[in-house]
Amino acid sequence: MTRRKSDATRQSSGKADRPKTNAEDTAGRRSFLKAAALFAGGTVAGTVASPFLAYPKAQAAAKTDRRYVTGRKPQAIENNQYPRTYYPGTELIGESEMRVTALGTGMPTQTPNQKAACFLVELGNGDHFLFDIGTGSTENIAGLQLDYSKLDKVFAGHLHTDHIGDLHTLWIGGWINGRYTPIHVYGPSGAKPELGTEHLVKHMQETWRWDILGRSGVLPDAGGRMVAHEFDYRKTHVIYEENDVKITSFPAIHIMDGCVSFRLDWKGLSFVFSSDTRPNKWFIEEAKGADLVVHECFFTAEQWQRIAGFTYPNALWVTNYIHTPPGAFGKVMAAVKPRHAVAYHFWNHPDILPETLEEVRKTYDGPLTLADDLTVFNVTKDHIEVREATIDRSSWPVLASAAYNKAPRSERASGLMSDLVNDGIWEGFKPPPIPQQ
Ligand SMILES: [Zn+2]
Ligand SMILES: [Zn+2]
Repeated sequence: MTRRKSDATRQSSGKADRPKTNAEDTAGRRSFLKAAALFAGGTVAGTVASPFLAYPKAQAAAKTDRRYVTGRKPQAIENNQYPRTYYPGTELIGESEMRVTALGTGMPTQTPNQKAACFLVELGNGDHFLFDIGTGSTENIAGLQLDYSKLDKVFAGHLHTDHIGDLHTLWIGGWINGRYTPIHVYGPSGAKPELGTEHLVKHMQETWRWDILGRSGVLPDAGGRMVAHEFDYRKTHVIYEENDVKITSFPAIHIMDGCVSFRLDWKGLSFVFSSDTRPNKWFIEEAKGADLVVHECFFTAEQWQRIAGFTYPNALWVTNYIHTPPGAFGKVMAAVKPRHAVAYHFWNHPDILPETLEEVRKTYDGPLTLADDLTVFNVTKDHIEVREATIDRSSWPVLASAAYNKAPRSERASGLMSDLVNDGIWEGFKPPPIPQQ
């Protein structure tokens, strides 16, 4: 087994989303000004033109092969010779391979570098699963230029915004860009019905009624729906079983009832995801010996006091009683002994990282990654590769498929724009008539 990334894992100099240098910023501004001047009919280096004349025509875009979103043909990886950087859309997943991408590893107040909790699992059989969909994580999903029609299953460990706060963005955004079937949300029940997943999903659809109605007719009907699959948080049980994939939910301990962790099993490979929890007996049991084990690794009480300004008693409560501080994360992993341990749910800040690593290493000396957003794990029976992904920061969506364009649609909403607003249409612009579909 080889791993390219070492313990500390942060490769700030090689990250795609590192802050721009002054030189890059200046260059960026220059090219923007050049484009702006051209657009305004100005002259740059003797040219008089709109840069938009150079844009590909719609027909040309339609010929683009949807499989090659990055313009490169995806390659099979042989003999574990992975490129040092993962460029989305360029690698085929092996038939018995699991690829896990950290799309959110941070805190409820996401930063440009770290979104809130989200892990994507892609399998060699073509299946995609999202574990948590924390605030900001859809930005990284967009960066990977994935086919949204495949991102229709979300497994939520609990209903904090840093674990499900981007559900509406995935739901609506995915509907606009390729998903023509409902999105399925698997999540726990709560101490009361109104604290469960079903309640959240139902009321989220109520909340976004204006949005859904306004898009209906143009977008396929089924893609605008969300289906809740609420299950009992108290049991250790299989909550999903299809296509040889088995996902088990088991209880977690985090502030109130209604929190779970997950284990995915497929073709002898396993992925375990804690969502949020303090160390608990179920996790030790279920994660034992698994391949890739992701567990939250919060702050020490002292760190939280220093970073967040909490009083010591409150900092201690948050870090040690409802979460897992780094030393306890290490203890959990020492008991579980995974093939590879993954820590997440901390600010991957250079002022904290060495201390966090030191704390973990006091109690655990096995294979470890302190995950960052866009850390990628390729897992097979004989190998685990750990790298960073480089994403296009202005990524295109994948083109809408024929199936998307053919999927049934209702009539566009009508009668909901008043004469007062209609009378405001400016005569100075007349769009061309809309042809029959
Ligand atoms: Zn939480
Ligand atoms: Zn959390």
